[in-house]
Amino acid sequence: MSLDELKERWKQALFYRGRCLLCASERVWYNGIRLRTASLRDGDKTVFVAEIPVRRLFCGDCSARWSHAPEGIATRAHYQPCVVAEAVVIAVLEAQVCDATVAQEHGCHRRSVLRFVERVAHVAEPAELMSLVLLVSGVPVLPAPPPVVRPRRSAALMALGQRAVCVLGLLEVLSSLFELSPPGLLHAARFLPAHVSPSRAVL
Ligand SMILES: [Zn+2]
Repeated sequence: MSLDELKERWKQALFYRGRCLLCASERVWYNGIRLRTASLRDGDKTVFVAEIPVRRLFCGDCSARWSHAPEGIATRAHYQPCVVAEAVVIAVLEAQVCDATVAQEHGCHRRSVLRFVERVAHVAEPAELMSLVLLVSGVPVLPAPPPVVRPRRSAALMALGQRAVCVLGLLEVLSSLFELSPPGLLHAARFLPAHVSPSRAVL
């Protein structure tokens, strides 16, 4: 879906009420609109979108308040999973592209790219994702060789990148098994609810 189509959907979604998330009441009232920003992929570009309208709602029965997430804006974080997943794959695997270029193409700071790599590496244990793939597919999975990553001065950073790309790959496999739209990173919480990674690689 193009950004223009998405903007149109955001406008329409301002009429959304639905049911209360807490008590399922239908007495749901509008509670204003707040504006937020996000960076997301539009075709092959990363775009910074300002003034995304978010409908705020209020329950007339239990007084709960919440926001209705605009379509395509999956997280509270500014950089959406589509941007993060792609930046990580390029930063880790593309030997010809330096971090500064990845950052420029994804509208973020160079240090953000490395933060994305670290964050994705710790979304889940690759072994845990692998066993989930086995469980869901019911087919024995041969261990894949580790991806060849871009050489860096720090071996720890290379290992972290390798793990991040592994996690992304397994999340893609899982989302296709569940017939969910890519990127798999978008659905990580669904595969591993309330997950806390037990190990943290050393930077
Ligand atoms: Zn309620």
